Amino acid sequence: MKKILFLTTGGTLSCKETEDGLVPELKGTDILKEVPELQALGKITVQDICQLDSSNLIPAYWSKWAEIIGDNYSDYDAFVISHGTDTMAFTASALSHMLINLGKPVVLTGSQVPLSVANSDARSNLELAFSVAASGLPGVYIAFGNKVIKGLLAKKIFSKNFNAFESVNESPVLYFTKKGVKKNLPSREVVGGFRVENKMNPHVLSITMTPGLEPDIIDFAVNKGYKGIVLACYGAGGVNTETENFLPAIRRAIEKGVRIVCITQCLFDGVDLSLYPMGILAAQAGVESGGGLTLEAAVTKLMWELGNK
Ligand code: ASP
Repeated sequence: MKKILFLTTGGTLSCKETEDGLVPELKGTDILKEVPELQALGKITVQDICQLDSSNLIPAYWSKWAEIIGDNYSDYDAFVISHGTDTMAFTASALSHMLINLGKPVVLTGSQVPLSVANSDARSNLELAFSVAASGLPGVYIAFGNKVIKGLLAKKIFSKNFNAFESVNESPVLYFTKKGVKKNLPSREVVGGFRVENKMNPHVLSITMTPGLEPDIIDFAVNKGYKGIVLACYGAGGVNTETENFLPAIRRAIEKGVRIVCITQCLFDGVDLSLYPMGILAAQAGVESGGGLTLEAAVTKLMWELGNK
């Protein structure tokens, strides 16, 4: 039987209803007691790391969790993390960057309705997550609802629907439909030794381009000490270059060593900075293309690169 380390961090899955709203309270042992079927999927050890709504997570937590996985790597076959859904895609992306040459599964899950409430999605999500962990498929994944998604591609697209996450720009690793399971399994081959590079520079700001936005927001970010900016542009990579011309502010920022990465506000297809003059001019000014990266993947990639390189 596979040895699985179950790390609990809070989120709705572990919440109880209180007069202040839903508050995470269940510990890992409580969860295992509620869902005894999980014990059939592996020899599970619990480590309660924190009891937080995931809105309260900051990058230092991701670094700590990567370290915990690194410290326990040789003692376990797989890792399952219970987590709030709201920032789960950020954590999954961050861990995907930090856990290099990962040869074991690290599976995040949570739920839209607390485990303690009747007809919650928590039970089935936990079963899915532990099944993926037991399968030995290497990589960071989110197992949730009807999908298993690579950590770097996940995005929360529903605030209440049980199939809360989407896999962006690639089919999910597993997709359960009424007609059966569609598989898009990644290779199990891992080249190179596992290592953890878990430093994060949190000074990354994301700015969403909206009509009328003034370019001095970029200068403001630079003066505040941000070292990276993720610019969520229109469509294939549109930046205002005329009526509120962003190019001078972009050039000033890049001259000061600030990295600016362009992603799209669209959910699918990513950016192509070679398509329109706005994208071409932005690229000439030094803006980097984020390709098909989601906001979550782009922000965490920049934090990670600025932290480790
Ligand atoms: N607010 C909760 C959280 O992210 C939502 C959830 O877990 O579904 O912690």
